[in-house]
Amino acid sequence: TGTPPAVSFTGAVKTYGAVRAVDGIDLEIARGETVALLGRNGAGKSTTISLLLGLNEPDEGTVELFGASPEKAARAGRVGAMLQEARAVPRVTVRELVSFVAGRYPDPMPLARALELAGIADLAGRRVDRLSGGQTQRVRFAVALAGNPSLLVLDEPTAALDVEARHAFWDSMRAYARSGHTVLFSTHYLEEADAHADRILVIDRGRIVADGTGDELRRSAGGNLVSIDLA
Ligand code: ATP
Repeated sequence: TGTPPAVSFTGAVKTYGAVRAVDGIDLEIARGETVALLGRNGAGKSTTISLLLGLNEPDEGTVELFGASPEKAARAGRVGAMLQEARAVPRVTVRELVSFVAGRYPDPMPLARALELAGIADLAGRRVDRLSGGQTQRVRFAVALAGNPSLLVLDEPTAALDVEARHAFWDSMRAYARSGHTVLFSTHYLEEADAHADRILVIDRGRIVADGTGDELRRSAGGNLVSIDLA
């Protein structure tokens, strides 16, 4: 009935040998929501994200984005991602890199808009391989926006950033989310999830063990923050 949600997992399972990295996940993310996937190291966050992006196929169950397969959604530029893996940094300018990526999509975001949203309009002519870590992360954000996605997926986006760069990064994410888009980000930190997401999914051993706002999670934990602070 009506429009399909941005993200839908039904009974998704992904195993690596004996490890059930994703062990039966059902979840839905509505269009326009900002959702945090909160869990400790090895909980299954990256595997969940790889299923969502179609980088891995579930062994069981289904994963859909906007009612289509992840591959189809990715090809159409409906999903943009920032993953953890450190890629080689190309020796081109910020403008060249973001334009190149944008050129692979059917309906890209205008370059100026992507740079502005990422907070790097002033870096357009700078070489990507000569930027600081915080600036590089913002370039990666602009690259994720290049296809003009409706859904942004961010795997521990602030892990390597100092406090100031974190604030700047979250400001950019929120500006994107405010314009009606959907965001899923993973994090180890309850306070980060609480501050920047509408809803928190807690993942542990490949299962969603809690789902709610920060306040709801605190209430259900009886005010005992420690029991849900998985950092
Ligand atoms: P982190 O916060 O450390 O990134 P995570 O929550 O993203 O952790 P995953 O990377 O999804 O967790 O890993 C979940 C489980 O699956 C772990 O036990 C991990 O060792 C295992 N795993 C993940 N990828 C592979 C792989 N390619 N081969 C074998 N085991 C894997």
